Amino acid sequence: MKRILISFQLVKCIRDVRVRSRAGFETERRGSHPYIDFRIFHSNSEIEVSVSARNVRRLLSFQRYLRSSRFFRGITVPNSSNILDDDYNGQAKCMLEKVGNWNFDIFLFDRLTNGNSLVSLTFHLFNLHGLIEHFQLDTMKLRRFLVMVQEDYHSQNPYHNAVHAADVTQAMHCYLKEPKLSKSLTPWDVLLSLIAAATHDLDHPGVNQPFLIKTNHYLATLYKNTSVLENHHWRSAVGLLRESGLFAHMSLENRQLMESQIGDLILATDISQQNEYLSMFRSHLDRGDLCLENANHRHFILQMALKCADICNPCRTWELSKQWSEKVTEEFFHQGDIEKKYHLGVSPLCDRQTETIANIQIGFMTYLVEPLFGEWARFSNTRLSQTMLGHLGLNKASWKGVQREQSGSGDDVDPAFEEMDSDILPQEPRLS
Ligand SMILES: [Zn+2]
Repeated sequence: MKRILISFQLVKCIRDVRVRSRAGFETERRGSHPYIDFRIFHSNSEIEVSVSARNVRRLLSFQRYLRSSRFFRGITVPNSSNILDDDYNGQAKCMLEKVGNWNFDIFLFDRLTNGNSLVSLTFHLFNLHGLIEHFQLDTMKLRRFLVMVQEDYHSQNPYHNAVHAADVTQAMHCYLKEPKLSKSLTPWDVLLSLIAAATHDLDHPGVNQPFLIKTNHYLATLYKNTSVLENHHWRSAVGLLRESGLFAHMSLENRQLMESQIGDLILATDISQQNEYLSMFRSHLDRGDLCLENANHRHFILQMALKCADICNPCRTWELSKQWSEKVTEEFFHQGDIEKKYHLGVSPLCDRQTETIANIQIGFMTYLVEPLFGEWARFSNTRLSQTMLGHLGLNKASWKGVQREQSGSGDDVDPAFEEMDSDILPQEPRLS
């Protein structure tokens, strides 16, 4: 066993080196990018912490390999299966009948599908939109592709995991159904939108770009400190698309077009670019010149739709929204704990001693979510848009109530957000 482990590590080492030596526009093969070094900090054990980061990284990659191969061989993992019976299956199917409802409870759906919400939901949506038939997709390849996507999300991340991806994909589906969009979208647009939504945070390490830059992570170097995570999500998605052979029957030209358009969608989710996208959106709406017969305009709207889907948590019902807020804060604070422990300088919003969920959420809503969804409602003034703005208002009021209880004053907006219009924005943690 030890020999197998060592030889596997050797293979991993070779593959790691291969990835590191590549130019930025190569794909990042599944499993070839190592776990981020700081994963050692997940453990409190002094012994484990003292092991070199590189060894632990390989070990965790190996565990990940085992987890994946167990999944493909159909071997169940103790304590994580057995709950999936006909009754749960039936309830999950029932939920899928209402997949277009804004109240869709992705957490419940994830439990009912035994942690397979991303695979089940996306497969269902491909079917629902007639994509399997239209693009002559092999359903085995499609399922395998979706399983690989789901497996490449880190289930240890409190927020940036496959459930978030499933939630964003469900929201994207709701936006694609909006009358203004649905009547002009082509099957190609729908296909790209769903793939981009499902893969938009692929292999997210659970820390933000500034963290990767200050720890000299190779991804920061590879992508020259610009949209580091988003580029990685995109290249990882391309790697899985190629590996699965899902579109091998299409022309090379179409496959290349697909890869680049998926990239445009995923790169738009970089929150530090929000102002640029928003002012472009606003200008189009002011001029009233958006023409959805024009493919470029349509793809711009799909970028805006994916941006909305990515940060729509505060526009969900309080019960769902509150859970997301807790999860994202947990991830921020975990990063802050690592930064403190290793004297890396605590990033804004990541200090559990000085920040609160309420402060972070109020700042997030005021500076990022409200402006975006305000414009979206101008573009698509529908019941869904009004529902989302309604929840947003109520949720903000609820967090203000919490804030008042905690501080006795209220109206504290996180200073990190107040500076967001200035140059500090690209340095802020990703919130989505
Ligand atoms: Zn996201």
